[in-house]
Amino acid sequence: MGSAVLGEAISAIRDWSVSKTTAPAGRANETFGSLVFNDAEQQKRLPKSVYTALRRTIVNSEPLDASVADAVAKAAKEWAVEHGATHYTHWFQPLTGITAEKHDSFLNPTSDGKAVLEFSGKELIKGEPDASSFPSGGLRSTFEARGYTAWDPTSPMWLLKSGGSVTLVIPTAFVSWTGEALDKKTPLLRSMDALSKQAVRILKLFGSKASRVTTTCGPEQEYFLIDRYFYLSRPDLINAGRTLFGAAPPKGQELEDQYFGAIPDRVLAYMADCEAELYALGVPVKTRHNEVAPSQYEIAPVFETSNVATDHQMMVMETLKRIAPKYGLACLLHEKPFAGVNGSGKHLNWSMGDDQGNNLLSPGKDTHDNIQFLVFCSAVIRAVNKYQGLLRATIASAGNDHRLGANEAPPAIISIFLGDMLTDIFEQVEKGGAKSTKSGGSLDTGVGVLPKLPRDAGDRNRTSPFAFTGNKFEFRAVSSNQSIAYPNIALNVAVTESLDYIAGELEKAVGAGKSVEDAARELLPKVIKENKRIIFNGNGYSKEWEKEAGKRGLLNLKNTVDALPQFASKEAVALFDKYKVLNEREVHSRYEIMVETYNKVVNVEAQLTVLMANRYVLPAALEYAKQVGQSVAAVKAGGGKSVEGKKLLDKVVKLTDEFKKRTDKLEASLDHSAPSAEKHAKHFRDVVIPGMVALRATSDALEAVIPHELWPLATYREMLFIK
Ligand code: ADP
Ligand code: MG
Repeated sequence: MGSAVLGEAISAIRDWSVSKTTAPAGRANETFGSLVFNDAEQQKRLPKSVYTALRRTIVNSEPLDASVADAVAKAAKEWAVEHGATHYTHWFQPLTGITAEKHDSFLNPTSDGKAVLEFSGKELIKGEPDASSFPSGGLRSTFEARGYTAWDPTSPMWLLKSGGSVTLVIPTAFVSWTGEALDKKTPLLRSMDALSKQAVRILKLFGSKASRVTTTCGPEQEYFLIDRYFYLSRPDLINAGRTLFGAAPPKGQELEDQYFGAIPDRVLAYMADCEAELYALGVPVKTRHNEVAPSQYEIAPVFETSNVATDHQMMVMETLKRIAPKYGLACLLHEKPFAGVNGSGKHLNWSMGDDQGNNLLSPGKDTHDNIQFLVFCSAVIRAVNKYQGLLRATIASAGNDHRLGANEAPPAIISIFLGDMLTDIFEQVEKGGAKSTKSGGSLDTGVGVLPKLPRDAGDRNRTSPFAFTGNKFEFRAVSSNQSIAYPNIALNVAVTESLDYIAGELEKAVGAGKSVEDAARELLPKVIKENKRIIFNGNGYSKEWEKEAGKRGLLNLKNTVDALPQFASKEAVALFDKYKVLNEREVHSRYEIMVETYNKVVNVEAQLTVLMANRYVLPAALEYAKQVGQSVAAVKAGGGKSVEGKKLLDKVVKLTDEFKKRTDKLEASLDHSAPSAEKHAKHFRDVVIPGMVALRATSDALEAVIPHELWPLATYREMLFIK
């Protein structure tokens, strides 16, 4: 069976040629956004007054009135129908990891037996999907199963072309009857509003005219691509997204011949096709390259505002998966599809920009700008220190547990890499500022004009979970498979609280007659002193760091079960509530869903492990034991002595016995009930997962001796290197 799949894969690869690429022709700049109802289309198709009203909603978050919505709906429908659309859908991000859509036709029968294509403002603004099957963590009792989707005008509508049909996709928020958020977009938008308010307070003190600050982000997506025949032959890849068995190949990533290496033709054709689709959808993907592990790649866009970037990131993941079969490939977004080689992450580049076009985390040209930069930068440092647990919780998942702290990804301890130069500057701030309260203004000597900070190439310190890279922070512990909504929300709300605190202190000092620069000079040393334990520029993989972090009192939450409670801690609940990002019920519902998701994921994996053990690996092991046994018997019958044969037989029999015992033990451990989801999660972590690991070790030992023809699963050697 193994070799049959291998044969299929090899013929497919042999028969594939670049001429089969189906990427649409046309220059990217001409096709970019062609499937988006973007600003240019809106301007062209909407009456001026409607267009202006819509812009006001988009830019200043002003409410939209019904007549405007009607006009927008009409224009959007006409545009969509011209492009062949027959349906529209409210597209939303429920509390599962994926996006949801329900398609409705524009078609409306008329009394004369004909039909018209219609789409009203009401249908644009509000939808009522039958939402009872989405997880709500108790927010929506089943008798009140209604959930509403509400149009998010700040993220443009687009056309989904799939399976020969065209659908107008309307990005929406998903809320309950009582207005509580059942999705990830709603709190993201709330967190952006909250941050804007506080950031503007500070900018005002610095004399800025800005009235809005938006958070921006650029997520770098890592993924694996393997031949689809291999993928389809492995129940674990299909159902769990990762291999639950598989011995390490003789060649892994040790030769370091993959990173930034030449991209294979078929992969490149696939990438070009994905990019073409994404360009048409207005997703500004920009870079592509090989990653560290064999068959691992990366795609990254130019940054956008956080909510648009979050929608676009979901579209990137969906597109990567959807296009792969066209090229005979399967795209794996799991954090750790293959043991023993690097897993996949998603570096979340994050910054804040004002409506005057300034990046607030970009060091400035003169003293005034620099002090403002240091204020915003300190706010982030303080936020990450104060809410390190919350940030850690937002990236916790069963999949990411395989990565974090595994010497290939950032450790599970949250810390900030500032780089030597900025660290030095902050050290001067801390000292200089302390002096300046007595003698005034010695900060200028250190940071009069900041030297232009070199842009981090991204790899300078791969071991840091949160790094300053010249004009933005990069949250690197985010996982490849997750929505970036929660890490963004957590970062936004934590920074909001810091900005609020700093704004308050500065306003007091300025109110008392100080210049804002002097006020900052006095405040920043205190902020840095209180929060500098979070700054660490060394090797995050080292044992010494774990010890040192412990001394500094930093959290070291090694797995999801330990990390998740931080999402719903008293501090986190108060923080979310204070800035109206999530109320207590909304926080708890999300926490519950996260714990349940962990349990479900591990349960599925464990069930699959048992299934594959009994139905794939064990029969192969028994068959091989039989063959070796027959061979030994034949030698014996011929009067010979099969010493080595007997040894092999003993080894296979012993491994097979051990394998069966471990399978049964794992299976028995799944028959478990616990008084709470948390207790159940602990059982999965402490009993079930170690059981899976032990069973796999035996299977991998068997794989090393069982002949190729008998081994039932595609191997690492094949999956990762035949392309
Ligand atoms: P590197 O990771 O090598 O530093 P880049 O500097 O090109 O690479 O940036 C990586 C990602 O960071 C890209 O997606 C880019 O758009 C994003 N990025 C750059 N500037 C900002 C910003 N101000 N806010 C958010 N993301 C940004
Ligand atoms: Mg990077």
